[in-house]
Amino acid sequence: MNSSVDKSNMRIDGARLWDSLMDMAKVGPGIAGGNNRQTLTDEDAAGRALFQSWCEAAGMTMGVDTMGNMFATRAGTDPDALPVYMGSHLDTQPTGGKYDGVLGVLGALEAVRTMNDLGLKTKHPIVIANWTNEEGTRFAPAMLASGVFAGKHTQDWAYDRVDAEGKSFGDELKRIGWVGSEQVGARKMHAMFELHIEQGPILEAEKKDIGVVTHGQGLRWIECTVTGKESHTGSTPMPMRKNAGRGLARITELVHEIAMKHQPNAVGAIGHVDVYPNSRNIIPGKVVFTIDFRSHLQDVIDAMLEEFYDRAPKLCDEIGVTLETEIVGQFNPPAFDEACVTAVRNAAETLGYSHMDIVSGAGHDACWINDLYPTSMIMCPCVDGLSHNEAEEISPEWAAAGADVLLHAVLATAQVVE
Ligand SMILES: [Zn+2]
Repeated sequence: MNSSVDKSNMRIDGARLWDSLMDMAKVGPGIAGGNNRQTLTDEDAAGRALFQSWCEAAGMTMGVDTMGNMFATRAGTDPDALPVYMGSHLDTQPTGGKYDGVLGVLGALEAVRTMNDLGLKTKHPIVIANWTNEEGTRFAPAMLASGVFAGKHTQDWAYDRVDAEGKSFGDELKRIGWVGSEQVGARKMHAMFELHIEQGPILEAEKKDIGVVTHGQGLRWIECTVTGKESHTGSTPMPMRKNAGRGLARITELVHEIAMKHQPNAVGAIGHVDVYPNSRNIIPGKVVFTIDFRSHLQDVIDAMLEEFYDRAPKLCDEIGVTLETEIVGQFNPPAFDEACVTAVRNAAETLGYSHMDIVSGAGHDACWINDLYPTSMIMCPCVDGLSHNEAEEISPEWAAAGADVLLHAVLATAQVVE
């Protein structure tokens, strides 16, 4: 390598990164300045081809697996060393922004371009990943292909997911020509880093350049059915009523109270409610609703569930209604790898960027990969915390800071060879 390079002050080319972001944003433009580059559409195929051409121009070799995940490799000096991965996703929401996911892929590409400019060699190979169908809008669930990679879903099940028009994931992947030959999940990783916009308001409010992501949020969705008795609202005496609506009311307050006990580490709410028969003059005989409890701490999730299961049935029993519950969604909170988190924090420190530890409120491909290999995330602010919206906005300086930190964290992990 060029020994005159002061490694502590290496920076990516912010203008080149921004140009690439704007060029990618031309592929599958939205209707309000953002993007509609949903997974496995013609626009997705065009975005993939553009990304591939850029990787090849940077001297990288592209591999594609049977879920369409793309992996561009920059060789290392040690043939036995496992690669250090970085990346995110190029697919967008139907009314998505230009940066959600895209920054993580093109920030990684900019990091490699910078390594090339500086003539840097690393012991470990470096791979940029573009994960298929992170968004999950067209084919539910989100993080589908990284989920198959991590063994959370089978490939057959993923191929059978259908969109609103009844087209299957497997058929559409084939149609756009991105069924690769590599077996999904066969790759081994030394580590993985994902750069992403925050999609929340904290970093901007705290005036920090970088979020050092220590954890992801875990969740439990509890579907509740409260059963009472339908009867006339006018003629049923008050003492004789079995009002399932009161069960909903009591449990709504209970959920709020439980989550408030664990501030600032927990949230809880009931976002979905069906009342039966939902008539103005009938006392509800049945209410079905879903509780969403979240925390980045497993013991907090456990404590919230324990208190809920202890108190909720009694609250219903007291008013003559019954409660049945079922867990319909669960995800344990990922704690990102300490060495990777430290590499990110050190990089921000070395570069002189303001930073803070942060929890990812949303799910990301890195959350699945973290189950298999040392992983962490870097977040940069976004204006007003707005995301999944065409008006999503970041500044070129925020993007450059994020990619700088990614570059340094990856080089420290992949070991620069002198
Ligand atoms: Zn994303």
